[in-house]
Amino acid sequence: MPRGVLARKKFKGKKMKSAHYNVVVVGAGFSGIYSAYRLRKLGLSAVVLEAADGIGGTWYWNRYPGARCDIPSMEYSFQFSDELQQEWNWSERYATQPEILKYLEHVADKFDLRRDIQLNTRVESASYDEATSLWTIKTNQGQTLTAPYFILGTGSLSVPKDIDIPGANNFAGRIFRTSTWPKEEIDFTGRRVGVIGTGSSALQAIPIIAEKAKSLHVYQRTATYAVPANNYPLEEETLKKIKSDYAGLRERERQNYFAVDLPSPTQSALEVSPEERASRYEEKWQEGGFGFMFAYYDLVLSKEANDAASEFVRSKIRQIVKDPKVAEILSPKQPISCKRMCLDIGYYETFNRENVTLVDLQSTPILEVTEQGVRTTADHIQFDDLVLATGFDAMTGAIVKMDIRGREGVALKEKWGNGPSTYLGIATAGFPNLFMVNGPGSPSVLTNMVASIEHHIDWISDCIASAMKTGSATVEVTPAAESAWMDHSAMVTGATLFHSCNSWYLGANVPGKARVFMPYVGGYPAYLQKCSEVARNGYEGFSFSLSPKKFGPKTNSEMFTGV
Ligand code: FAD
Ligand code: NAP
Repeated sequence: MPRGVLARKKFKGKKMKSAHYNVVVVGAGFSGIYSAYRLRKLGLSAVVLEAADGIGGTWYWNRYPGARCDIPSMEYSFQFSDELQQEWNWSERYATQPEILKYLEHVADKFDLRRDIQLNTRVESASYDEATSLWTIKTNQGQTLTAPYFILGTGSLSVPKDIDIPGANNFAGRIFRTSTWPKEEIDFTGRRVGVIGTGSSALQAIPIIAEKAKSLHVYQRTATYAVPANNYPLEEETLKKIKSDYAGLRERERQNYFAVDLPSPTQSALEVSPEERASRYEEKWQEGGFGFMFAYYDLVLSKEANDAASEFVRSKIRQIVKDPKVAEILSPKQPISCKRMCLDIGYYETFNRENVTLVDLQSTPILEVTEQGVRTTADHIQFDDLVLATGFDAMTGAIVKMDIRGREGVALKEKWGNGPSTYLGIATAGFPNLFMVNGPGSPSVLTNMVASIEHHIDWISDCIASAMKTGSATVEVTPAAESAWMDHSAMVTGATLFHSCNSWYLGANVPGKARVFMPYVGGYPAYLQKCSEVARNGYEGFSFSLSPKKFGPKTNSEMFTGV
């Protein structure tokens, strides 16, 4: 049994509050669960600390009605174990939240990972000690843990955005947030419901709430592009077919810009006639899913190409939504894909229902939430229930919420005051032996995130193993490598339309947050290649150093052999 675990058990009995591990990981979603598996395989003692009282991360917290993935389930799942891939049967093209949570619980049980996961434990601070090359991690349980390596699997979308609507605390009815939905079933039958927000979470919840509610008011600030999900049950034959070449599917993902199993287009939208374009979009619309954005290669590169694709979706909205005024309000004006696109399962149709009203916050902004309901510049509507689907402090929120201090006590929050800066979205200069999973500066949220998570954890584990094998105490990004990566990242972003609207990718959804486009837009294949090259060239861009002192009871290389 790994030494850290033994220590924890002993400490629990004696109510002692400290322990030493090779690695401390924060977060028990896909990232933390796979970290526990991978680090144990390396023979390292690791503990995964999770604030919630259950594992699952995103799929633990986001239990709102209609929550499901929008990357096909056969892809939005782990690939590290073919046995797992072969034995698990997804029931639908896009699995629901309960099914994904069940899957993650199955993974944890199958590989006996729960013994390395400590629930109900929030990491409050972490500081790096230059004399010992150790991280000291403090939790809300009063524990102090030490480890040479510290991995943040804290999630890109795990910290709800602060509520920035005046009076929200005054509401006397039931108030829910999609991002922290209660475990018990919430019945909206016969109730007057208001939903604020029209991003992915709201789009999934609205059609389902509308079926039950007496009335539903949807408060929209920015209209959202959604293409049909075309969800369907996965029949045995389909499962069999995909499973017969799972390796092939995973390889195709590695060759795709978003890490999904879709062919990469080679044609420009501008080199075909408008009729041919419309016919291609129609085909993609019928297929459903993000394939729409792969109709042509330049939809996020050329404004003209993007305009035509955007107009196609607007024409579909006009066809689906019967009231032309409502259709117009629902028609987005920003470039398609500039904000994250959504998949539609009955969203636009919902606005044809008698009990549903769309409120356009562009023309009638919210003034306040009152005890009874929501007051806009136009009216005051009374509600029994309010649902806030207002999004997240994305990509950096969970990281800077912890007081993380690197060399010379510098706080990461301060270092990132003008926006996050990393090398590869994996590490940041001045914070030795600290690694991020899907950090800002990596393709992360622009990809099938499970694929990106596994890639990051494999890469980080290999890097740690390499450091330990060579007896290095620290692995640290050089400022030059970080700065070159940030320049490159900004340069490729500048060549796209991704940065051309107020998205959470840019931090623009959070008042006061620095505006830096956070994900890497160079594409998954190019990113994989870069990460491989870096590793192959002896972790180019990282400096490795031997510690002048021994730390903890053993050296790194001794610990690497396992305890
Ligand atoms: P998370 O699942 O976010 O887990 C992070 C965990 O860290 C959380 O449980 C949190 O409690 C914990 N934590 C954070 N800070 C601390 C702390 N200080 N101390 C202790 N614990 C802490 N991506 C896709 O690719 N496809 C999809 O279809 C898709 N659908 C999504 C649907 C929703 C509703 C949301 C919100 C996101 C979706 N995503 C999707 C993105 C999703 O977040 C990732 O795919 C993936 O689940 C992230 O896993 P993770 O383990 O990295 O982070
Ligand atoms: P989001 O995309 O950020 O949407 C938040 C919504 O709330 C936006 O419509 C936003 O309007 C609105 N809003 C925020 N503050 C407001 C305010 N003060 N007043 C009025 N409106 C306000 O958040 P999300 O829907 O939770 O999704 C976040 C991400 O999680 C997604 O982009 C996706 O990556 C992931 N996700 C995926 C799925 C899936 O289908 N699998 C489901 C849910 C989430 P503005 O646009 O004007 O800011």
